[in-house]
Amino acid sequence: ATPTAIMVGTGRGAENGILVKNGAALETASQIDTIVFDKTGTLTKAQPEVTDWYFPGLSTAEKTKLQAQIASIEQGSEHPLAAAIVAAAKQAKQALPTATALHFIAGQGVTGQVAGHELAIGNQKLMAERHLSTTLKQQQSTFAQQGKTAMLIAKDNEVLGIVAVADQVKPDAKAAIQQLKAMGEKIVMLTGDGAATAQAIAAQLGIDQVISDVLPDGKVAAIQSLQKEAQVVAMVGDGINDAPALAQAQVGFAIGNGTDIAIDSADIVLMHQDLMTVATAIDLSQQTIKNIK
Ligand code: ADP
Ligand code: MG
Repeated sequence: ATPTAIMVGTGRGAENGILVKNGAALETASQIDTIVFDKTGTLTKAQPEVTDWYFPGLSTAEKTKLQAQIASIEQGSEHPLAAAIVAAAKQAKQALPTATALHFIAGQGVTGQVAGHELAIGNQKLMAERHLSTTLKQQQSTFAQQGKTAMLIAKDNEVLGIVAVADQVKPDAKAAIQQLKAMGEKIVMLTGDGAATAQAIAAQLGIDQVISDVLPDGKVAAIQSLQKEAQVVAMVGDGINDAPALAQAQVGFAIGNGTDIAIDSADIVLMHQDLMTVATAIDLSQQTIKNIK
């Protein structure tokens, strides 16, 4: 396409809430055949709510105390899962104790010290060698089959329970996926969340391929491996953990209310947080290519 055509396309994009940061990507978008969606914050609202606290073997008093301690180590995290846990503690009018030695581990969870104890909340990877009882394993998979994200909670070296959080899919996500599939696109979900939760949400949305349990570094590798089979791979994401994958994809789409680093790494920004505009952007790209004026 000519520079003029790209200018025209960019202007038309802006009218539709599509901010084209990279004119070349507007051309490349016409050849997209694989679209990879991050799950949390992209396909889902990322306004998750705590649905269950599961602490077999703890008294009510112990349980309440641990909930507040967990919320206190989550307070400094930017992750939507953390926000849900802090909100639940505030709703229960719990005073949050002081936490120190905080470590936020992307794609895994958080650890910190509270009242002389080492606390950890996150996924299996974060729990490392800690033992997981059969009861906890079973409950974890039940939550996951319900499409909930189940995070393990450990105090010192003992895994004591699970907090389950449910995140709703965005209202337009299913229609957007349907439309893109009708255009012949291959759709893939890429997430740091576990397989069962990811599959449950993918099934709701009509997504056939799921790549789950992926660490932030793994997202780039996943894009690279899809690039071997595809013509042009696009990635749609919102988080810090998506930024390298947005840069790796030939066309990176960031959700407009996503993190700054995701927006910086993307070629195209969806200003209205509207997933339908991915299809609009591809249409626009095809028009831009045809427009030789
Ligand atoms: P996604 O790719 O779906 O946006 P992430 O890569 O951010 O997900 O996170 C992957 C997993 O790591 C989460 O499902 C959760 O189990 C765990 N995790 C990440 N951050 C936190 C946190 N602040 N608190 C608890 N668990 C977390
Ligand atoms: Mg995300």
